[in-house]
Formats: sequence, structure tokens, C-alpha cells
Amino acid sequence: MQIIRIPVLSDNYIFLLWDSARKIAAVVDPAVARPVLTKLNELDAQLVAIFNTHHHNDHVGGNRELITQYPNVTVYGGEEDKGRIPGQKVFLHEGDIIEFGDRTATVFFVPGHTRAHIAYYFPPRASEETGELFCGDTLFAGGCGRLFEGTPAQMVDSLSKIRTLPDNTRVWCAHEYTLKNLQFALSVDGNNEDLQQRYTKVQAARNKGEATVPSLLEIEKRTNPFLRWDIPTLQTAVKTSESVQTFARLRGMKDTF
Ligand code: ZN
Ligand code: FE
Repeated sequence: MQIIRIPVLSDNYIFLLWDSARKIAAVVDPAVARPVLTKLNELDAQLVAIFNTHHHNDHVGGNRELITQYPNVTVYGGEEDKGRIPGQKVFLHEGDIIEFGDRTATVFFVPGHTRAHIAYYFPPRASEETGELFCGDTLFAGGCGRLFEGTPAQMVDSLSKIRTLPDNTRVWCAHEYTLKNLQFALSVDGNNEDLQQRYTKVQAARNKGEATVPSLLEIEKRTNPFLRWDIPTLQTAVKTSESVQTFARLRGMKDTF
């Protein structure tokens, strides 16, 4: 399974999963349809699945047109998103297993950004392979999604599930927000050397117009403040010793950063 990143709108990423042996493709969060259709034509691929993480238009906006072009495509989304995702046929919940070609993914229920948000995790099949996590707007490189329909406690619970995945997991998040996220991270965790190094690298990449997605979960665990609610430095920075409160304060600060 090859993963092709398609940048669209101002800062969204669509991911195309491509099985070249079977000539089939799946798409994660098609914000728009046109660039996806162009790529599918280029590959001569049949679109068999749309994997949506949540109902926001910058994630499902292309569903309708893709369904028109590929009437047999199956649209997957969270059970709680019933009625909010155009063309949804499969209603997923925590622990469900889905298939694409010769790969399977586990579904995580990760409410917080929205009340219905899910993530798709393809585990590695060999020790040298990476796992692939499609987490929409839940975890970002260096940050996390805003809490539109969920509470800090729910988001901590959701991010805890992601945090238990192996270090060797690539994080395919849906927006290029990394530079701004790391600027905030430095404002609360400025002495973190891993974070300083990451910021320098990301800055250089962005200056060259390069994408910073996917990132690696190992790096996120060491540098992303929204996975570090139980680290004393972060707790001190927001003047509490309680984990959910730490997360809530960090999220509140980031909202106005
Ligand atoms: Zn969203
Ligand atoms: Fe989004």
C-alpha cells in the first residue's frame, strides 16, 4: 500500500491509499474531488473506499462528486456521524476492523474535536515497516484539534489511545499546521531540546515549501505538548498538577495563541 499526499485548499491534506497490484485506491478525507479524480486517472485506479474521520466540510466536501464518478465506492465514517457524512454506508465504532486490499486497519473512536471523530490505524506487518495512522483533526504534528464538540477529558482519553501506539507509527494528520503548532509548543516547553531541534527542521522544510506531514509518533511523544499533559515541566508551565487540567489549559492557551 502506497500513500500519496495531495495538498488542497489552504492547508489540507488528502491521502490516497494505492494498491498497485490490485489497481484499487481508497481516499482519506477528500476535502475536494477534482485533484483526487486526476490522480486516480493518472494511476488508472478504481476508487473502492472513502475513509472519513469526521463530518467537517474540509474532510467530506469531495464525497458527493467521487460517488458520482465511482458509484460502487463505499463510504466509511463514525457511527455517531450518522446523517452528517454525505453517502456514508458504513458506521464504525471503536475496535472495528476494516479492509483495504491486503491491509487491515483498526478503528479508534477519538471524540473531542467533534463528538463522532474516528481514526484509522494500519499496523505494520513486519518489524521494519511503519504503522500508518490517519487521525484527521485529532492529533496534529506538534498540536491537536480544537475542541468543537468535546471536552478536555474526552480529548485526553482519545489522545491517550493514540499515545499507546508504537513509536514507529507515521501520523498522517489532515492539516499543515506544524510550524505554528511548534511555535506554541516552544512557548510552554522552551527548554525541550528535542522540540528546539524539531522546530529548526520544520522551519527549514517550510521555507523550502516542503510538507511536514506525515510525522512520526515517537517525535510527537517527545515534543507535542498535547501528548504531554503528565510531564511535570508542562504542568508547571500551566500551574497545575492535574493531567486533564493541564491539557485543558494548554488547549485554552493555544486557542488564542
Ligand atoms: Zn475538523
Ligand atoms: Fe479539518
